[in-house]
Amino acid sequence: MNSLPEIHGRPAGDASSGLRLLRQDGAARRILVTGGAGFLGSHLCERLLGQGHEVLCVDNFTTGRIRNLDHLRRRPNFKVVRHDVSLPLTIDVDEIYNLACPASPPDYQADPIQTMRTSVLGALNLLELAKTRGIKIFQASTSEIYGDPHVHPQPESYWGNVNPVGPRSCYDEGKRCAETMFFDFHQQHRVEIKVARIFNTYGPRMRPDDGRVVSNFIVQALKGNDITIYGDGSQTRSFCFVDDLIDGFVRLMASPPSFTGPVNLGNPEEFTVRELAERVIALTGSRSRIVHRPLPVDDPRQRRPDISLAMGELDWQPKIPLSDGLAQTIAYFDRLLISESQELAETA
Ligand code: NAD
Ligand code: UDP
Repeated sequence: MNSLPEIHGRPAGDASSGLRLLRQDGAARRILVTGGAGFLGSHLCERLLGQGHEVLCVDNFTTGRIRNLDHLRRRPNFKVVRHDVSLPLTIDVDEIYNLACPASPPDYQADPIQTMRTSVLGALNLLELAKTRGIKIFQASTSEIYGDPHVHPQPESYWGNVNPVGPRSCYDEGKRCAETMFFDFHQQHRVEIKVARIFNTYGPRMRPDDGRVVSNFIVQALKGNDITIYGDGSQTRSFCFVDDLIDGFVRLMASPPSFTGPVNLGNPEEFTVRELAERVIALTGSRSRIVHRPLPVDDPRQRRPDISLAMGELDWQPKIPLSDGLAQTIAYFDRLLISESQELAETA
C-alpha cells in the first residue's frame, strides 16, 4: 500500500496520467470513485470496470483496504491513488462518484472532526472539480439524513429528525451539509448532480471489525461468540444486498440530467435487530448465545425506505432477499476467517 501514488497538496496534478487514453467513441468513460477501497466503493469499481470504463480510485485508506481491490489491480484500465478528499484535487475525469467517508458508527465517531471534514470539504472539493470540468457527480448520501424518524417509512420529502450535537451528528450533519452543497452547486453553477440516500447495505468486503450489525453478528456467530444486541433488539433496519445497491447507483448515474434525486436506495423489507440475530444464528447453525448491551445514544428506533421514487424514475428495486444475501455474506466471512487463522498459524 505504501507504494501507491499520492496526490500532494494543491493543486494536485494529473493523477490520471498513468491510465490509458480515453476511448473517444463515447462508450467508455474515465470515472473517479472516491472511497473506492471501501466496502461499497470496491464493488462499484468492479462494476464500472466490468462495463469497460477506466476507473481511478482515490482513497486515504482510513477504513478502506487495498485487499478489497487486489483482484482488480492488474487491470490496465484501473488505477489507485492515495489522497484525502478534504484536500483539493485536480484530475482529468469524465464522471465522479463520491463515496469517501467512513460509514460505520464506531468508525465515523472515532475522529468526528475528520468525518465532518471529509463530508463537507470533500464534497466541496469534488463539486469544484465537477464544476471546472463540466462533468456530473454522484453523492453517496445516507438514510441518516432522516435521523430518528417520526415518519415511517421515510419518503425523500421528509426533512428528518436529527440531533445536531450528539455522537452521530458529525456524520448526519456532515452528510446533510454535503447534500445542501450539491443542490447549491446545481442551482448556482448548473453542475449535474445525482444524490442517493443509501439505507443499510451489507455484503462481502465489509470489514469483520467494522462494528456494523451485519458484520458483527456474522463474525460473532461464526466464531461461536456471544451475539451482542444493543438494547432490546426491537429497533428496526432494512437491509439491502450490495449488488442491488450498485445497480441502483449505475441506474441513477445514467438517468436524465433533470433527475437529481435525492432518491432513496435501499431494501424496503424491514426487520428488527433481534430478527436479524435469529436469522444469522439459523443460517450459520451457530451455538452462540444472544446477549444484550446498552443501546447507543441517539440510535434510530426504526428505518425503512419508501422507494416509490426509485421505482418510478429508475425502474429499480432490490431483487435479493435477506436470506440469500446473508448466505453469500456468511460464506465470504467464513473464507476470510479461515484464511486469517491460517496466516496466523504460519507466522506462529
Ligand atoms: P467504508 O468505510 O467501507 O468506505 C469508505 C471509504 O472512504 C474507505 O475506503 C475509506 O478509506 C475512504 N475514506 C474515508 N475518508 C476519506 C477521505 N478523507 N479521503 C479519501 N478517502 C476516504 O464505507 P462504505 O459502507 O463503503 O460506505 C461508502 C459510502 O456510502 C460512504 O460515503 C457512506 O457514508 C455511504 N453510505 C453507506 C451505507 C452502508 O450501509 N454501507 C449507508 C449509507 C451511506
Ligand atoms: N447493533 C446491535 N449490535 C451490534 C451492532 C449494532 O444491536 O453488534 C444495532 C445498532 O444499535 C442499530 C442497528 O443494530 O440499532 C444497526 O446498527 P449499524 O451500526 O449497523 O447501523 P446504523 O443503522 O445504526 O448506522
